Amino acid sequence: MNVHDSEKISGLLDREGLVAADNPRDADVIILNTCSIRAKAEEKFFSMLGRMASIKKRRRGLKIGVTGCVAQQDGEAILKRAPYVDFVIGPQNIHLIGRALKTESVTLGLDDNPFVATLNLPAKRAPGVKAWVNIMYGCNNFCSYCVVPYTRGPERSRPAEDVLAEVRQLAGEGVREVTLLGQNVNSYLTSHSFPQLLAEVAGLDGITRVRFVTSHPKDLSDDLIHVMRDSEAVCEHLHLPLQSGSTRILQLMNRRYSYKQYFERVRRLREILPDISITSDIIAGFPQESNDDHRATLEALSEICFDGIFAFKYSLRPRTKAAELPGHLPESLQAERLAEILQLQDRITETKNHSLEGSLQEVLVEGEAERGPSHLTGRTRTNKVVNLLNHPSIHTGTVLTVRITRGYRHSLEGEPVS
Ligand code: SAH
Ligand code: SF4
Repeated sequence: MNVHDSEKISGLLDREGLVAADNPRDADVIILNTCSIRAKAEEKFFSMLGRMASIKKRRRGLKIGVTGCVAQQDGEAILKRAPYVDFVIGPQNIHLIGRALKTESVTLGLDDNPFVATLNLPAKRAPGVKAWVNIMYGCNNFCSYCVVPYTRGPERSRPAEDVLAEVRQLAGEGVREVTLLGQNVNSYLTSHSFPQLLAEVAGLDGITRVRFVTSHPKDLSDDLIHVMRDSEAVCEHLHLPLQSGSTRILQLMNRRYSYKQYFERVRRLREILPDISITSDIIAGFPQESNDDHRATLEALSEICFDGIFAFKYSLRPRTKAAELPGHLPESLQAERLAEILQLQDRITETKNHSLEGSLQEVLVEGEAERGPSHLTGRTRTNKVVNLLNHPSIHTGTVLTVRITRGYRHSLEGEPVS
């Protein structure tokens, strides 16, 4: 979400006639687009802001702006702590950037913006065959650990015709894969429900792949699973954050499902889409998490066998309900539990990737592989990275049938089938 916000900020700056500098030391404007989902992201921002101060000392007229969720959360306090900051704008109001560039020291756009979903902001995307497209903003779920409802405001869905127009335009520019973005995409609602919107996006000419993040387990309907099965372009991958395998902890997290209900959704997904890959998010060491609760998460990982997870230590966030809970765990115990979770999942992912050896997979070629120009990289429909060794001549954007030759922990290797 934040990376795509940065693309929109770049698009807006382009519109103002600015061009990208190669180096912050040469820039006339520096904007730090911040994340506050965990304390670590916020700390990184404040240390980077310190470095910007020294650049500003040497460069008169430099404007420094702060956008994103830390801007929304800390607002005026940022200007107090770092008076060399020229403007602070929250994530719902980045369209005000042009105005901020033309005024003296301001905090603009920290208010709720009910029209955020109707702003069709120009995004300047990195060249390639993949693009992100916002379909909704904000979140109403108030999971007890999470700052998003406070920083990004209530849920607002973008008109379906605006989403479809943007995807049509992207297809015309050569984009083949779109990822529909929202904090909780399956609660999208306008003239279209989310399954309806997804089916229409998937039907647009030129679009060969559609993905979407993130889905909330409580809103994962059978209708959506059926669209995933019936629309050829919709990829067989779902990111479905579980957070914990313990129903007691899920309740404390205000997730509104039990482990049993989550598992039932996974069973249903696999019944209708046997080859689907499912990935997830896990939080280690939530307040009051007992050893048994932690074991329940490990058992859930073993039972479900996700294709991959993102796991994080619980991080206390201001204003959230969880911050007030008694029984916060020491960092060392959180770290221990996180390591166990990651170790177990690594084994599961590796076994899954091994089992793909010999299989045929559809791969969308995305460009050069990290290991050098004679190798290419792409992804399967199930969102796994596949490296094609010694194939420099295949065009980015080509869809290939590939036989998987090796499965590693974080990637696959394969050979195109002629
Ligand atoms: N809307 C999405 C994504 C939210 S943020 C969803 O509901 O899944 C992405 C992930 O960050 C979450 O799934 C959660 O695992 C993690 N996260 C959010 N707040 C956190 C916190 N305070 N501490 C640790 N992890 C957190
Ligand atoms: Fe945060 Fe929960 Fe909303 Fe996701 S669904 S953004 S975790 S409050």
